[in-house]
This record gives sequence, structure tokens and C-alpha cells, in this order.
Amino acid sequence: MQIDGQVETPADNADEPKRTKAEQKRLILVEIDTGEYRLQYPLAFAQNVSALELYAAIEAGMKRVEDLLGPFESKLELLVPGQIVFDDPSFPSHLGIAGLTQEADDGTIQVVVSLWAAKGSTWPHEFFHARLRELELAPPRWLEEGAAHFVESANGFNEELFELLLSSGPLSIEDISKIRGISDKEMRVRASGWAVVYYLNKIRGKKLQHVMLLQEVDLPSTAEAFEAIKEERNKMMESNASNKIAVF
Ligand SMILES: [Zn+2]
Repeated sequence: MQIDGQVETPADNADEPKRTKAEQKRLILVEIDTGEYRLQYPLAFAQNVSALELYAAIEAGMKRVEDLLGPFESKLELLVPGQIVFDDPSFPSHLGIAGLTQEADDGTIQVVVSLWAAKGSTWPHEFFHARLRELELAPPRWLEEGAAHFVESANGFNEELFELLLSSGPLSIEDISKIRGISDKEMRVRASGWAVVYYLNKIRGKKLQHVMLLQEVDLPSTAEAFEAIKEERNKMMESNASNKIAVF
């Protein structure tokens, strides 16, 4: 994996060619250390996402995850590269990588969010993965990703994944278990996970942390989950429509 535009120390190395002024400028890092996390990002990126926007997105994302799963115990390292590229040729080229969470050798949890995603919902998504690592919870990958997409919005609804399920339908848990690694069905896998999490938390009232502890055999089918979501959605539309009539 390569993290393009990632933090590099502008050390003077005699073997390296001299950097131009513009190149040197790219290496100036903004560092924000709140005690809870340390964020580093190249100052040059501030033309795309200002430090204040970035800070606001991080704080909001962290709060959402802490409200759901309790406060972080360790200090996180946050990085904002230009983009994240996997050098694995089997990785579907149409998928952009918004963020990733990894554990460094010293046990520090690193959260990396691409600049193009740094204003939005990728922060709560990645913080969710990070907090699960701290809690030592390791649900099946499809379910964890589904839950991470669930926490991207305050109400858990994910329009994009819902639309994908409307057009392609969910994959069964059995079909998901046959897929190895990241395939061209990745977004459908995630959407199916999202449907199960949304259904259990929002419709059946189960706590998110509890859902993350369930075994696959104890989960409802993805079809059952999606049907219930569609039904809930239809009811909501109907009541919205009748509300409008009442107003006029
Ligand atoms: Zn994820």
C-alpha cells in the first residue's frame, strides 16, 4: 500500500536531490495535538480543506463514535494524505479509498483519511473501526463495514447503499462468505451489512455494540433486514405525504 502525499520529514539528506521551493512547501506540516489525538497534514492541502473544516469534521466524527461506543482510551494518530493507493492489481480500479485504520507496530492506532474525503463522513466511519480495535471487537468484515457506513450519518441511514440495494438487492450471508478479499461486489457486500445493522439497531432496537458481538448464525438474513427497511421507508414516505396535506 502506498499513501501518496503522506507526511515526510523534510530532513536534509545529502543523497537526495535538492527540493524546489514548491516541493519544500508541500512538506510543511500542520500538527494539531489535542491530547486525544495528533493530526498531521500538509499545509499545502489547506487550499482544499482548511484546518478549521478538518478540525470540525474530526471532532464531530469522534463525538458520534464516542457517544455510541464510549470514549477512546488511547491517543490516535491521524494522517491526511492526498490519496491512498493499494498496489494490489486485483483491487477493483473503480473503488477509491476514502480512508483506512491500521495498528502501528507500537500499538498506536492510525487513522488515515484521503484529502478528498476529509471534510465528511469518512471520519466517523474510520473512528468506528478504530474504537472497535480498542474494544477488541472483531465482527465479520462485511458486518463491521456495514456498521461503519451506518455511523457515517447521525440517523444511520445511508441513501447510497439503500439505492444500491434497491437496484441490485442484498447478497445473502452465505454468498458473502464465499467472496475472498475485495471484489467488484464490495459495495453490495457493504450495503448488505449496512442493512442488517440498520435493521437490528433502528427497527429492532438492539444496541450497536451488542450487534457487533453477534455470531453470524444469530443474525437475521440480509433479505429480511432489507425488506423491513423498505417497509419502514414506505411508511415514512406515506406519513410525510399526509403531513403535507394537513399543512395545506
Ligand atoms: Zn471501513
